[in-house]
Order: sequence, then C-alpha cells, then structure tokens
Amino acid sequence: MIATVLVLFACTGNGQNKNKDKMSDSTQVISRTEEEWRKILSPEQFYVLRQKGTDSPFTGKYYLNKEKGMYSCAACGNELFSSDMKFDSDCGWPSFDKEIAGGKIKKITDYSHGMVRTEIICAKCGSHLGHLFDDGPTSTHLRYCVNSTSVDFKK
Ligand SMILES: [Zn+2]
Repeated sequence: MIATVLVLFACTGNGQNKNKDKMSDSTQVISRTEEEWRKILSPEQFYVLRQKGTDSPFTGKYYLNKEKGMYSCAACGNELFSSDMKFDSDCGWPSFDKEIAGGKIKKITDYSHGMVRTEIICAKCGSHLGHLFDDGPTSTHLRYCVNSTSVDFKK
C-alpha cells in the first residue's frame, strides 16, 4: 500500500492590520464622582448639570444670544451646538434644531413629573442638558431645549 500524504500549506494572507479603533476625543467618557463635580462646578451648575435641574424660563444668559459661535458642555467642554443651529424659540430656553455631530448627545426617556419626555445628556460626561422635542419649526422638526447653565458659549 502506498500512502500518499498531501500536506497543503494554505497560504492565508493575513491582510493588513486593520486597527482603526482609536477612540476620538469626543467618545472618551469622563467619569467623576458627584463630590468631584461639586468641587468643579458652581452650585447653580451642579444643580442643573448633575441634579437635572432646570433654569427658570426666559432668564438664562444664552436664551436671547444671537452671536456666532459654539456652545459646549459647561461641565466638560464637549462641543454640542453651533450658533447656526440655534433658532428663536418662545419656550424660554435656548433652542437648537440639531447637534453638531452624531453621538455628542445621548437621549434618555424621562418619566419624571408625570410626563414622558426625552432627556438629553452630554455623551462625554453624562451631565444634564435639557430635553428634546419633535415640534421644532425647522426642517429637522427637532427642538433641543437646553439650559443656559448647561452650556458655555465661545465666539
Ligand atoms: Zn459634558
């Protein structure tokens, strides 16, 4: 008997090293304890950003702001909205029709105060920004209703 053993070496080209999983800055999550936040933020910022407080309507510093610039999270600096996305809203809070890029803001269903609303939080640090409604007057039909206290504005 003749046994023929064929050994095949499969040439499995390993291809290129497709390592494109580098995290960008905007996806790096900041995690601090509430005590740490309390030291960093003003009492008003801590109340709104970390305890989901709300500015009194028609009082916030950016409600009527029409200057060109960028709005970022007041807790961590994550850029959220540009002035181009801001529109005049009669609801009493700064309102935007979209965020500057996907993934900047997380949406969470909020059942507080006997309502079902969509809470918006900073995707980077988890701080409360405001609420998202679908009754916006522009083509996106979105209204990001944001506390002035939750954002910093830079020209
Ligand atoms: Zn943030």
